[in-house]
Amino acid sequence: MSPADVPRHRVVIIGAGFGGLPAARFLGRRAMAGRGIEVTVVDRRNHHLFQPLLYQVATALIPPGEIAPAIRHVLRKHPNVRVVCAEVTDIDTEHRVVRANTLGVLEQEIPYDSLIVAAGVNQSYFGHDEFALYAPGMKTIDDARELRRRFFGAFEMAEVTEDPDEKARWLTIAIVGAGPTGVELAGQVRELAVRSLRREFRSFDPRTVRVVLLDGGKEPLAAFGEQLSAKAARELARLGVELRMGARVVGVDAHGVDYTDSTGETRRLDASTIVWAAGVEASPLAAVLANATGAELDRAGRIAVLPDLTLPGHPEVFVVGDMMTLDRLPGVAEVAMQGGLHAANSISRRLQGQDVRPFHYRDLGSAATVGRFRSVVDFHGVRLGGFPGWVVWALVHLTFLTGFGNRITTLLKWTRSFIGRGRAEREFSVLHTGGDLSLPPEVRAIVEPNPLPVYGDRLRAGGPAPDSSDAG
Ligand SMILES: Cc1cc2nc3c(=O)[nH]c(=O)nc-3n(C[C@H](O)[C@H](O)[C@H](O)COP(=O)(O)OP(=O)(O)OC[C@H]3O[C@@H](n4cnc5c(N)ncnc54)[C@H](O)[C@@H]3O)c2cc1C
Repeated sequence: MSPADVPRHRVVIIGAGFGGLPAARFLGRRAMAGRGIEVTVVDRRNHHLFQPLLYQVATALIPPGEIAPAIRHVLRKHPNVRVVCAEVTDIDTEHRVVRANTLGVLEQEIPYDSLIVAAGVNQSYFGHDEFALYAPGMKTIDDARELRRRFFGAFEMAEVTEDPDEKARWLTIAIVGAGPTGVELAGQVRELAVRSLRREFRSFDPRTVRVVLLDGGKEPLAAFGEQLSAKAARELARLGVELRMGARVVGVDAHGVDYTDSTGETRRLDASTIVWAAGVEASPLAAVLANATGAELDRAGRIAVLPDLTLPGHPEVFVVGDMMTLDRLPGVAEVAMQGGLHAANSISRRLQGQDVRPFHYRDLGSAATVGRFRSVVDFHGVRLGGFPGWVVWALVHLTFLTGFGNRITTLLKWTRSFIGRGRAEREFSVLHTGGDLSLPPEVRAIVEPNPLPVYGDRLRAGGPAPDSSDAG
């Protein structure tokens, strides 16, 4: 049988993040094309995002493109893989169709024989979406750009503000959540202020920039265990980060946060820049699938999958990565990558008449960096801190950047910033053009009421295509 005679098997992958991209690459191999496998990758963004280095974009260490390669480019060598930039709004498991919308304008239906859903998680404000306006999260490239804008904007405001209380407020940064995201960001903001901004301002000393890390728990990096948490707390203190554990944030506004401390007393922290690194909730697609299949959702909205990562009664639907729950696996990149590969391999095995096996996760450990040349690493019970931990962290992250052609440039930027003091990626504008698509619609409505107003209205009305005079 020639390849043209092989019956087609249509695989749709929702999400080209850490779960979806390895699955697409696996199914895009020549052997898979020969087996009649055709893949459609649907993502609402045009780029894959290396989230672990987002904080380096937010603190001007590396440019956004370094960690956000175009999905089309990454998959260009796989002719049986098609990329569709669209937001999936519905999954019809009965008729095996995915419904999607491109840039809020074009609706389409994409049929599948097998489906891999890897849509990840979104920021959660625990029922207080109004906080989003004052406290951006750290999940998307838009978030990182917005935070960079706010950090550098606050320093500029502090430079020209004469009132000492207001100046102090501009120079205070509150970060809510002392997990890896909050800890890494807090350390880097202090490094930025103390090392890179030295001698640049005339009306304040950047060493006075306060970074306050608030968390309701007992210790930072709680998931890393007591020993590494204690190490992380020491490193943060050394960097000058103020740690407020047992602090539950109950209010956020343009001028600061309200929180209850461990005694239950309500306190106020004045801060002009607030970052929300506290919670996540699964993609709403998890609820869509749960409704259709009877699978359960946990408190964060993650869908419970069967041991082979499929859904009850739907062996053709796999859910992988952060949006699924199985055996209390953590929401980390390795779980997503191994899950994506497992789903792709299962589809290939099935087409060859073989059984689908249960998913077995190989734990490769976890790592978080606390500051320049300082990380904590937990690898199969071997715990490393300080410089040895940082070397392991750097090697792991550079390895995972493989395939995007930017390992060398990233290494050069790190060298420039960590050995020298340079932070080249500081540009920001006073106009916010984001419109963060990962936020739930109700939050989007608060933050950016109409991300594409001119295009959307014209095209919907069937009017002429916008010309350059519409820009802005
Ligand atoms: C700041 C930060 C730092 C992190 N650091 C680490 C770390 O150091 N180590 C580690 O192991 N893990 C880390 N993680 C966690 C890791 O990034 C996640 O576990 C991993 O990204 C999960 O992969 P995923 O494929 O499930 O989701 P993602 O990688 O988030 O991919 C989901 C994809 O789905 C797309 N999508 C979502 N909804 C739709 C829709 N409706 N329609 C179309 N497309 C959609 C998104 O655009 C995205 O491309 C970090 C996460 C963050 C936010």
